[in-house]
Amino acid sequence: MEKPFLRDAPCALCPRECGVVRLPETGSGYCRMGTDAVVARAALHFWEEPCISGAGGTGAVFFSGCTLRCAYCQNAGISHAGFGRRLGAAELAAVFRRLVEEEGAETLSLITPTHFLPAVLDALSLYKPPVPVVYNCGGYERAETVRALDGAVDVWLPDLKYHAPRLSALLSGAADYFERASGAIREMCRLSGPPVYNERGVMTKGTLVRHLVLPGCTGDSARVLEWVREGLPEGTPVSLMAQYTPQPGCRVPGMGRRLRASEYARVSGLMRELGLPGYLQAPEAADAAFTPAFDLTGLPGEEREKTEENPG
Ligand code: SF4
Repeated sequence: MEKPFLRDAPCALCPRECGVVRLPETGSGYCRMGTDAVVARAALHFWEEPCISGAGGTGAVFFSGCTLRCAYCQNAGISHAGFGRRLGAAELAAVFRRLVEEEGAETLSLITPTHFLPAVLDALSLYKPPVPVVYNCGGYERAETVRALDGAVDVWLPDLKYHAPRLSALLSGAADYFERASGAIREMCRLSGPPVYNERGVMTKGTLVRHLVLPGCTGDSARVLEWVREGLPEGTPVSLMAQYTPQPGCRVPGMGRRLRASEYARVSGLMRELGLPGYLQAPEAADAAFTPAFDLTGLPGEEREKTEENPG
């Protein structure tokens, strides 16, 4: 299932292709993380799309660090600051097992795992869950990396955040976001095939594309949805998210307000016009109360540590 380049040093796991040699505990690439997995929370989560959470919840494993670090990220404490606990492969596999076998998770969600892929694959080789493995990522992936995960991932849950390079450069420091994400998501759809659901309505195979509508950016959202209609297989579901929440640390002009109901209505109307299946989100979701506590819940050991913020 795994291609050798995943363990190459210098690191080229994601489109940043930083070319740095990462050590187990530290890294000087864009993601600022070493190669050991760092996790901020591992617990049942009930607020994903119904086909991901199911009735029993998804076992959500939140990895620390990020290859995008969006300016408005609502999980900045872990994605930017890197808070979390380092886990070895056996510890991570034990976390997966507990979520599935003791807590009854209907799926296992790996959230922002790309920069730790070798460590995650090691854990999955020790424990391959009997429930679907969901790869929840920002969409900014190398197609080669996606291909290397064939057989390890059952359900792809990528964001498709932006269409315009100017916007992705401003908000995520990645002018090539759409070029890379669109290629990666095409590859995900090719690998997964059309969505398959079990008798409980949980997706067991497939790709579900998420898009968060940003304030003042409905035109870009329209271009994203039009590309999904033209560029992905018919029937690929979309989850259109309304939960944008202004973050105190985000200084980008225009991003300091919530999404207007009229903005979401415009984009959701286009989604219907285009005949895209999927999910719309209730406006109440734009509430910080839906952001889980990143407090090491569900991780082994009593020790709570803050990982070093390695210089980028
Ligand atoms: S995973 Fe991290 S170090 Fe490796 S290429 Fe991506 S951002 Fe750079």
